[in-house]
Amino acid sequence: MIEDPVVPQTPENEKGATAAIQDAGDAPSLAIVNLDIGSDTSPGMYGDMYSNKFSDSAIYCHMAPAGGTGPPYYWLYFLAEGAANVVFSIHPATAVDARTPGTLVLIQDAGGRPVDLRGHVLRVSKDNKNTRSGAEIKRDYEILIRPLFEDDDDGYDFASHLPELDPIQLDSLVIVDLNRQVSKQIYRQQIGTIPTNMGRMNNMALLMADMSSVPQEAFSIEIKPKWLSQSPNAIPNALRCRTCALQASKGGAPSDYICPLQLGLGARKIIEPWLKRKVRKTIEIEEFALEPPPGVEQKIVEHLTTYLAAGGEGHELLKHLRHLQTKHDPKGVLSCDEATVRRADRLTKRYQEQHDHDELTSPRISDLRSTLRTTEGNQPGKSDDDFTDQEIDAFTKIHNLQHAMTLRDCSLFIKVNYNSGDITVESKLGDLDFKSKAKLEDWREKEEDLISGGWYKGFGTFQKSEPCLLTASWRANIPWYW
Ligand SMILES: [Zn+2]
Repeated sequence: MIEDPVVPQTPENEKGATAAIQDAGDAPSLAIVNLDIGSDTSPGMYGDMYSNKFSDSAIYCHMAPAGGTGPPYYWLYFLAEGAANVVFSIHPATAVDARTPGTLVLIQDAGGRPVDLRGHVLRVSKDNKNTRSGAEIKRDYEILIRPLFEDDDDGYDFASHLPELDPIQLDSLVIVDLNRQVSKQIYRQQIGTIPTNMGRMNNMALLMADMSSVPQEAFSIEIKPKWLSQSPNAIPNALRCRTCALQASKGGAPSDYICPLQLGLGARKIIEPWLKRKVRKTIEIEEFALEPPPGVEQKIVEHLTTYLAAGGEGHELLKHLRHLQTKHDPKGVLSCDEATVRRADRLTKRYQEQHDHDELTSPRISDLRSTLRTTEGNQPGKSDDDFTDQEIDAFTKIHNLQHAMTLRDCSLFIKVNYNSGDITVESKLGDLDFKSKAKLEDWREKEEDLISGGWYKGFGTFQKSEPCLLTASWRANIPWYW
């Protein structure tokens, strides 16, 4: 069990928060003089006193004076850390939950009005090599990822499963204090700090919906769908799928693992026991404080199963994810050979020279193609800008692979709300940062190692518990082989 003494579980003290709002005018130096808080504000009613959330493009976060309580004052607490970013929970500051390890901040929009950030977390990029800034992540997400989930070919709209990434500008002093929190974490497995250099990283962080569990209210799990169809480069008649082959090469699958092909198939009899193990493991390993009331745990498992099994909303989302993965990478990472990379690089370089180093993206590739088509009559295969068909194909191929690899490494956060009479389930995708093509070599190497190591063939001891759907199919169809 990992205890988490830093993240507060205290429910918001709304009465305290409201009282504190009325004290906000007394705050020195950072006091908001134009706070539009009517004296008739009811306790706990946040409604009209806030600006229309995120309607202004800019939200600002400054250090707050000690003692500032109630919105627009918030505590930021370290929540989690990844290789490229750190996540902080956000809590309206109340007199009762003020505690020293957090960072007390003042959050307001461009008009100086407070912003309601309950139910959100703050995600801040680190300054590691190849880490994208908040601004870059936001731009890639809106241009390259969001359109894939809106109105798919079958008429489904999966946009509701996409998190909103709302930009927030952090004061440099806030960043210094957030780094202080990060440096105090005892069990850090990651490296890097949050940059205070305003130039490169722009000090833009991102606000996202908080999908974590709430004790006695909601229970959340995170799943990694991974490769929902077989790698196009796998050997013919493979006994394992790409993800199971990789797991086997690492020495076996963890107890809460499921073969992605099984997950995509959506059979209740496979999914339910897996979810049961996963929910129990989450409670035991991560947070005993999340243990639901007696009898509710089984209900949570049942609702999660219905959500992810064939016919469920989550199942439809996974099918869409599988469709996108396959569509964007029909030939596999090994088809992006050296010649393809050279052609794509040539195109990128020339494009950036001609477009003031603006980044080339898939929507811009469509423009290049139309340029190419309109000039084909004069100079076959060449556009006015001297981009060739071959180069555009190479760039498109690698760019599509980046899409596929992004979608093969995303997370799905599923939250079961059980506090009210009806149990409801919601889900959001996460970790959708567009993958850098600098990873191409790693992807190729990994695939080559799986093939040469025999992991697709079934190298390693085949146990009865081998999780892969492909293994199960072989066993069912040619039992004498085993
Ligand atoms: Zn598998």
